[in-house]
Amino acid sequence: MNQNQQVDKILELRNEGFGYKRIANELKTSIGMVRYTIAKAEKNTLSGFCKNCGIKTLSVKGKKAKKFCSDRCRYKWWNNHRKGKEVR
Ligand SMILES: [Zn+2]
Repeated sequence: MNQNQQVDKILELRNEGFGYKRIANELKTSIGMVRYTIAKAEKNTLSGFCKNCGIKTLSVKGKKAKKFCSDRCRYKWWNNHRKGKEVR
């Protein structure tokens, strides 16, 4: 497993709700390494809120910020937005 694969795996397990200790055990690495990796990843993400449902979204810094949690929400919001403008 290379470094990038390990980082991906740590974040994947973290998303699934694993604790630091469990991730470290799972990947045979140290808790310090897991904590460092997660802290670094969190520093590089921006949080926002979905314009449609208000749910929290995470986007990677430097990339386009997410305004919606999903394509479905984006579609719904634009649909409502357009309808509002068409009212006579
Ligand atoms: Zn949403």
